[in-house]
Amino acid sequence: MNVLVINCGSSSLKFQLINGKTEEVMAKGLCERIGIDGSLTYKKEGGEKEKFEKAMPTHTEAIKYVLEALMNEKTGVLKSLDEINAIGHRLVHGGEKFAHSVVLTDEVIKAVEECNDLAPLHNPANLIGVRACMEAMPGVPMVGVFDTAFHQTMPEKAYMYGLPHKYYDEYKIRRYGFHGTSHSFVSKRAAEIVGKPLDSLKTIVCHLGNGSSICAVKNGESVDTSMGFTPLEGLVMGTRSGDIDPAILEFLYKKEGMDIPALMNMLNKESGVAGLSELSSDFRDLGDAMEAGNHKAKVALDVFAYKVAKYVGSYAAAMNGVDVIAFTAGIGENDAYVRKLVVDYLGYLGITLDEEANKVRGEEKEISTPDSKVKAFVIPTNEELAIARETMELL
Ligand code: ADP
Repeated sequence: MNVLVINCGSSSLKFQLINGKTEEVMAKGLCERIGIDGSLTYKKEGGEKEKFEKAMPTHTEAIKYVLEALMNEKTGVLKSLDEINAIGHRLVHGGEKFAHSVVLTDEVIKAVEECNDLAPLHNPANLIGVRACMEAMPGVPMVGVFDTAFHQTMPEKAYMYGLPHKYYDEYKIRRYGFHGTSHSFVSKRAAEIVGKPLDSLKTIVCHLGNGSSICAVKNGESVDTSMGFTPLEGLVMGTRSGDIDPAILEFLYKKEGMDIPALMNMLNKESGVAGLSELSSDFRDLGDAMEAGNHKAKVALDVFAYKVAKYVGSYAAAMNGVDVIAFTAGIGENDAYVRKLVVDYLGYLGITLDEEANKVRGEEKEISTPDSKVKAFVIPTNEELAIARETMELL
């Protein structure tokens, strides 16, 4: 069974074709600048990356070029479209309606549309991808895998904000959490690595990428997570502020006359380590700058790691203990310095960093010393594979 995994944004479309049996990636790529001009970057397993400029007025053309590339005599990996047996779509927001992945039917799509208010930038774009695939491959079964679904197990005490209850009643304002596919994938893998049943483990997954979130996973279920109603809450991220005192917004409004759109833009795009360092959102740049003596870059890294350590501590408290801490995503998998900063705060939990093992990049590895009471691992995430697995399981 071959599964085409689609992650569709407003002007981009990422795809991977995965062989369901071997779990190998047969081909993958990215359409960018859809609606502007358009380009397709494509790579088949073992082949070279190629880039084609293509006119893509809408996502329908983007899908058409992806399918053409997959079947092209030279670059292709398929003889006919019939060899795509299923499509798995990443969908951002399933609200309270979707606690699991779901086979996409007209009725389900309508229900997803009803969640659009909660993710106005992402959900409509995801659904454009769904519709474009339906048009190009009618009859191929499709599954939607939600970023929020894994967190629907959170108890009320974790998802309710201290706001008037009527806003939850009326608008469903609450914590939803994101990166659920990744937190689920990594926590399952952590249980396999330590060889214990998932329903006997307390795991804290640190998904540290350009967008970052932490999740407390108890007995295989998300019981709390740092992103909230939107992905803006929680950790200090690449360009997002994470938690701040909400009264700062009123202060800036008074001082600088910033309106809500300007404030939201500042919080989402000009803050985080990029805003702190006044240099970059990329941790490689920050590491290099710090080594060259840049104080703001050092402070940005310190603020980031301190916040991660505080969330880990609060989730250890929430679960009354922790067995495994897993680092994943771009920073979690690659940045040894940040991992060291974080783990050095966690001695009280009985974790000591194995400095040699911590040199690892992008590979699964235990990075705590053998005598550590709580184990720390680097576990690469693979959201596309997780979506392909969910798709096959449902079908
Ligand atoms: P997202 O999926 O949210 O865009 P990723 O998980 O791909 O993010 O993470 C991207 C980030 O990972 C980059 O912005 C960079 O900060 C960090 N990163 C990637 N490679 C390295 C590396 N070798 N060392 C340190 N940081 C890295």
